[in-house]
Amino acid sequence: MQGKTPKEIIEAVQKAGVIGAGGGGFPTHIKLNASVNTVIANGSECEPLLASDKTLLKEKPYLVIEGMKYAMAATGAKIGYIAIKGHYQDAVAAVEEVLPRDGSIKLFLLENYYPAGDEFLTVYDVTGRIIPEGGLPLHVGVVVSNVLSLAQVANAMNGKPVTERPVTVTGSVNQPQVVTVPIGTTYRDLIELAGGTLNSDDVLMEGGPMMGLIVEDPDQGIAKTTCGVVALPEDQFIIQMKNTTISQMVKKSKAACCQCYRCTDLCPRNLIGHALYPHMTMRTIDYNLSEPTDHITSTFLCSQCGVCELVACDFMLLSPRQVYAEYKSLLVSKGVKNPHTRSDISIIPEYEFRKVSLPTVIKKLGLSEYVKDTPSYGYKSPDRVRIPLNRHTGVPAMPNVVPGEKVKMGDVIAASPLDKLGAVYHASIAGKVTEVTLDWIEIEKG
Ligand code: SF4
Ligand code: SF4
Repeated sequence: MQGKTPKEIIEAVQKAGVIGAGGGGFPTHIKLNASVNTVIANGSECEPLLASDKTLLKEKPYLVIEGMKYAMAATGAKIGYIAIKGHYQDAVAAVEEVLPRDGSIKLFLLENYYPAGDEFLTVYDVTGRIIPEGGLPLHVGVVVSNVLSLAQVANAMNGKPVTERPVTVTGSVNQPQVVTVPIGTTYRDLIELAGGTLNSDDVLMEGGPMMGLIVEDPDQGIAKTTCGVVALPEDQFIIQMKNTTISQMVKKSKAACCQCYRCTDLCPRNLIGHALYPHMTMRTIDYNLSEPTDHITSTFLCSQCGVCELVACDFMLLSPRQVYAEYKSLLVSKGVKNPHTRSDISIIPEYEFRKVSLPTVIKKLGLSEYVKDTPSYGYKSPDRVRIPLNRHTGVPAMPNVVPGEKVKMGDVIAASPLDKLGAVYHASIAGKVTEVTLDWIEIEKG
């Protein structure tokens, strides 16, 4: 680590293809190209059932600390925090063992609530600073990076690109587990590693139950951002909510919203003082979008955390989250920019009391029967991977290999243009390229 300049660190991170591994997919080299006083390693992993970050912290805490040191060196930060849920005792003990003695990196124990990993909330919990509406942690002198991304920063400095990641495979499967696999391992292969699903018609979700998306094609490969794959029965509440189309939801919302206010009371972004009032948006959804009101444009402030949909509106079963997602894409397509940028914000006094505990979320989501141990199964490599090229923030990566070409693990196979926001992709197994599209590259062993 000695002697590395910020420029050298940022270049190595860019070359290794490190992006936000917690789900955001924002290129880490861009994030580190900043001047801040604080870096937070986000290890909160607040989605129910997931345990990938916790497992990493337990097994390789030294890598996260090393990555944190590089992130601090790149950004000039004087203090770093490893933010973990306080009840992850094994992970907390493992990190405590390797914390530097000079006090430059500290442990911060988060409460067990959802969504503690939302960086707006993490930054407030750890530093007491409130990120402005439409802002970034950078605006309050902070860089937040997922713990796995930081471990990958450490690997990058040792010349190792991002070719693998730990994934929690859980829910309705025979052997819930955390397994480290090559990027591009198919969802089908992951489920097989977990001993298959309990029911033949179980539905797969990528990510956690709150923010995850239904997997449409199990033969596609996991991305650098895939922290979990969760199988659930077709008739499970979450699957039913996620399968409701937006037009069904808008129709239902217009007719059934009783204006009880609970979605606003529990909205985490409202609680940190942002002008987001989902119950008001539900009241105004039949307004003409050519003249959007504040309650429509406030969609730009929504994190899509799902608290309003899956926790607050558990009686009427409406989804302000889905309504916001739809309006955001409509507004963006019309070229409307976020007009909400207040920075004179105060936290709502009820902030602490209205945090929704994870056990409550699990109960409301009907997930209690799936809360099981997820032992670490180490590294497993399939015979074939399909590496997605567009699962990061920015422009997709363009393939630079052709079918029939032999590749070694770690060879560069695709990259976004250097002058654009994007990422580099590497072969995650050695073998022959069998298929190349604009969306993925398939490699078979041998
Ligand atoms: S919780 Fe549901 S019913 Fe109540 S205001 Fe919000 S959307 Fe309407
Ligand atoms: S998804 Fe719902 S609860 Fe979450 S930030 Fe958006 S409006 Fe608030």
